[in-house]
Amino acid sequence: MFRVALIGRPNVGKSSLFNRIIGKRKAIVEDIPGVTRDRLVSKAEWKGIPFEIVDTGGYLQGDEDKFAPYLRKQIEKELQLADLIVFVVDGKEGLTQADKDIADILRRTDKPVIVAVNKIDNPSQEENIYEFYELGFDRVIPGSAIQRIGVAELLDEIVRHIPDYETSVSREKVEEKERDKTIIKVAIVGKPNAGKSSLLNAILGEERAVVSNIPGTTRDVVDTLFEWEGHKFLFLDTAGLRKKSKVDYGLEFFSVGRTLEAIKKADIVVHVIDAQEGATEQDTKIAHLIQKYTKPAIIVINKIDTLPQRKEVLNRIRNQVREKLYFIPYAPILFVSATQRKGIKQLLKEIVEVYNQAWKRVGTGQLNRAIKQILSLRHPPSFRGKPLKIYYATQLEGKPPCFLLFVNYPEGFKEHYVRFLENNLREILGFEKAPIKLIFRERE
Ligand code: GDP
Repeated sequence: MFRVALIGRPNVGKSSLFNRIIGKRKAIVEDIPGVTRDRLVSKAEWKGIPFEIVDTGGYLQGDEDKFAPYLRKQIEKELQLADLIVFVVDGKEGLTQADKDIADILRRTDKPVIVAVNKIDNPSQEENIYEFYELGFDRVIPGSAIQRIGVAELLDEIVRHIPDYETSVSREKVEEKERDKTIIKVAIVGKPNAGKSSLLNAILGEERAVVSNIPGTTRDVVDTLFEWEGHKFLFLDTAGLRKKSKVDYGLEFFSVGRTLEAIKKADIVVHVIDAQEGATEQDTKIAHLIQKYTKPAIIVINKIDTLPQRKEVLNRIRNQVREKLYFIPYAPILFVSATQRKGIKQLLKEIVEVYNQAWKRVGTGQLNRAIKQILSLRHPPSFRGKPLKIYYATQLEGKPPCFLLFVNYPEGFKEHYVRFLENNLREILGFEKAPIKLIFRERE
């Protein structure tokens, strides 16, 4: 039976968590040769998947230092027996030296370790969990055994590691459903007459595409669900793209509000630029919004049919756009002609590619190796005469990719060096086409 061990120093709430997980079942005292203290074992189950759970508590009362060698032996023994470790820590008290000592032992195992930050009784305390990322484990789950918060998330995470679960049909079904649910929300933005409506029409005219209209909340707004080669896209119509008729040309004015609304809602932004004009002031404004909301984006230079098809002409305009919109360097630039339907397939492929990058997760080890490498390329300048240090980094949940960095002086990391870090991290970790966000947090 898959064995899950609760490990942690005393009073962090291991027993409460144990009792919460086993429910009404009875625990038994386990007798392990060579381990003098008792440990409690019980069967447990989550979503129909059985496993065994062990509460290693009961030892290490009193002076922690004195018991350190004993604690080490206990944990090492349990590491041999368990299939998964739930490392329980106290979110109220914060990270302690004993936690760090336990983490040192746990880091040596290949077995999965989940950090359960207990005593987080309400969402406002979730800030407290960040410091526990420093322990070096990817999965950190906040909760409260007493208040029954976060226990389901923890159990979800536990059973995800159980082999039977992985291969079970139900698991596959769940995954299929999740994949099905992946709909990429796309906003097409740009100044009036850049060719947004034409581009959308060209996309919707793509062969083998299935198109359906989804009425929005506001009148006149129609989002379009579009399926192509197994991918689903939802084109957001916050700007009334599909409603526009020929007589409207010239009447549309640039509205920051509408563009902003589209950008906020989207998973990915397609920024259309008129090839004959290049990037204008309005385009700079739009791109600033994209940057502000850290949105993945693709810059589409439209109407290339109106230009001489020569490399140097295209390069010149590409450079002009890149220079003007230098603050979103991650956004790939594509050339299309909406009216001649050129470059449309390429654009759809790029949307999928950029989306996938924006969802990617990297391991903690890989991330920290990348940071080390970047620091050796160029060290941050000193701050108030003191050297700046990055101790440790971890990727947070969600998109766009967001990294938490523990440093000595967060305010010492200035824009210039932050850009340098971002660009290098993107390159080394394969986020070339996705924006990333860095959060600096202090640690002594
Ligand atoms: P929107 O305001 O951004 O939605 O722009 P429209 O799609 O309404 O296009 C504005 C004008 O540019 C129309 O006259 C289109 O026919 C024209 N247009 C759009 N795309 C292209 C293109 O790829 N090539 C050329 N030559 N004209 C285009």
